Amino acid sequence: MPELRQDPLTDTWVIIASERSKRPSDFASKKEGKKDSGSCPFCLGNEHMTPPEILAYRERGQSNTDGWSLRVIPNKFPVLQNEGQADKDTIGLYEKMHGVGAHEVIVETPDHNRPLGEESEEHIFGILKAWQSRYLDLKKDPRIQYTQLFKNHGAVAGASLSHPHSQLIATPLVPKNVIEELEGIERFYKKEGKCYFCESVEFEKKDRARIVAENNAFIAFCPYAARFPFETWIVPHKHSEYFEESSDEELRSLASILKRTISSLSQALEDPPYNLVVHSAPYRMNEGQRYHWHIEILPRLTIVAGFEWGTGFYINPTPPESAAGYLRQTH
Ligand SMILES: [Zn+2]
Ligand SMILES: [Zn+2]
Ligand SMILES: [Zn+2]
Repeated sequence: MPELRQDPLTDTWVIIASERSKRPSDFASKKEGKKDSGSCPFCLGNEHMTPPEILAYRERGQSNTDGWSLRVIPNKFPVLQNEGQADKDTIGLYEKMHGVGAHEVIVETPDHNRPLGEESEEHIFGILKAWQSRYLDLKKDPRIQYTQLFKNHGAVAGASLSHPHSQLIATPLVPKNVIEELEGIERFYKKEGKCYFCESVEFEKKDRARIVAENNAFIAFCPYAARFPFETWIVPHKHSEYFEESSDEELRSLASILKRTISSLSQALEDPPYNLVVHSAPYRMNEGQRYHWHIEILPRLTIVAGFEWGTGFYINPTPPESAAGYLRQTH
């Protein structure tokens, strides 16, 4: 059973994933699993190589056979597991918790070589609907406080399989990064009486220097204090706390702006490795807490090194205004 341990100094929680137990030799410089379709567990015809599916879109055939256009499956090597209660325990001055949660993989397409930016808007809408459906289903589990949906694209960004996929890890705690955003939103609200994200969308639309793309429901822009070169956020115009409460119409607009943003990054930077994270509100917020859901896309072009680890400062060599300019030129 995995275990969550809290660092009392910084309140950071660490998942000690003992099921993934590794010896020193397992860490020797890892190369990307550029598997061909014969050995790729996410390719059509290889359904027997994965745990049984949780959800699938298929036009024909039975569960766990071919004929699908999207599959959601449990991760074969889960970071958190479904069994047991989210009990807390103390050991001297330390606090720990059972590693209860979920870890799932969304296989976005049967096509091994078709990256997200090249999918049709209709297909991307289907992927977003699958994300939404998993958020809503996991919300029913009282042990789960938060779902983190993410996509690692490219070996540098942590993808061990190159077949297009996204993942989610549902956690029994609200993660620190989300708590920091909740607190930031609260601070801003106390000072200005408004939601930070709503204000920032308004400002970016007026200022225009950092806009990458916009449509009727969303804006994509490089944030003012971007930590990484070409970091791009997608934020809904409408104040809304939960990604999973988006209407189909909103998800269609999201599919469109997501396709445009990812293909702009891909064109400008020749298919860069990136991480994409969805930040949606914790399932059960405290009284008076506010959130505004959004997507952060973090291209992995620089290396987070000693200074960043030591200080929490980031060094970004590309001003977000220039990054947005390059990205706008691609369409
Ligand atoms: Zn594949
Ligand atoms: Zn807002
Ligand atoms: Zn965020």
